[in-house]
Amino acid sequence: MTDALKTLILGSGPAGYTAAIYAARANLAPVVLAGNQPGGQLTITSDVENYPGFPEGVMGPEMMEMFKRQAERFGTKVEYELAEKVDLSRRPFRVWTNAEKEYRTQSLIVATGASALYLGLENEKKLQGRGVSACATCDGFFFKGKKVYVVGGGDSACEEASFLTKFAREVHLLVRRDALRASKIMQQRVLEHPKVTVHWNTQVLDVLDVAQGKVTGLLLEDTKTKARRQVDAEGLFLAIGHRPNTELFKGMLDLDPVGYIRTVPGKTATNIAGVFACGDAQDSYYRQAITAAGTGCMAAIEVERWLEAQHA
Ligand code: NDP
Repeated sequence: MTDALKTLILGSGPAGYTAAIYAARANLAPVVLAGNQPGGQLTITSDVENYPGFPEGVMGPEMMEMFKRQAERFGTKVEYELAEKVDLSRRPFRVWTNAEKEYRTQSLIVATGASALYLGLENEKKLQGRGVSACATCDGFFFKGKKVYVVGGGDSACEEASFLTKFAREVHLLVRRDALRASKIMQQRVLEHPKVTVHWNTQVLDVLDVAQGKVTGLLLEDTKTKARRQVDAEGLFLAIGHRPNTELFKGMLDLDPVGYIRTVPGKTATNIAGVFACGDAQDSYYRQAITAAGTGCMAAIEVERWLEAQHA
């Protein structure tokens, strides 16, 4: 295992970089593969107001740049590559990337995060950034005085709908069933808000742009009666959940039915000795930058102790 790294970190969000800071300070000379969204989901947010240590708030991309600089300061090497294939059947583990490189590593930290789900409509993709968004906190500001729709019935949808009331003229929440899945307090916030209208049993069939290159309306369907109607809209926010970026590990790591990596309770160890998982790839519950960073720290400490035990 002489040519193998001590640890390789997949992902460059708060979990990946925190793992790197700790691993680098433990002299493990970590390499971070930044993945296809360097800096992770925070790079598509604007103000981060709930990360301790920034009393005035901080811009997401700026914070992730600071994470990176802190990791590099202690010797972390960041490579702008995406892991495309892994072999975890024996050690050293092997990871192949889109730069046609192969990495061999004694331990692996999976911090590949999660990505927002979309409805899968053709126009939805075309109009991303032109009225379609999966992040109200990033883009809400651009919808001042506008009429916007939010899709979803969970905590995210309610949170996004409430947040959008600060900017938008009207907020319409489209719920595919006759009930919200969100916690009671979040439900109450939207149901009682004068700017929010909830449309039950409603789904989006198409996003309309009437050749203007931006969202101008939606084609909606009543999920019970199948009746269709067209509405004017200037924005469409998707809040239908996230999918963990764990496809790569299917059949190797123990995943829950949604795809989140299962770890030993209270730890980041996975079912494969030497592989540790942190951040949103293994957390469907908290999904916060601070908790991701916390589990990144845990993963690095576990790696350090695990490597020590191997050589004992
Ligand atoms: P959830 O999986 O909880 O909810 C997804 C929602 O989207 C559901 O209402 C679901 O409908 C709906 N949905 C899914 N697919 C479609 C589709 N194709 N068309 C229309 N609607 C669809 O995801 P969230 O992101 O809301 O929450 C994830 C986790 O994060 C939860 O544990 C949540 O509690 C937590 N969270 C907590 C927050 C807080 O406490 N402040 C804020 C945000 C998230 P259906 O109900 O019919 O399945």
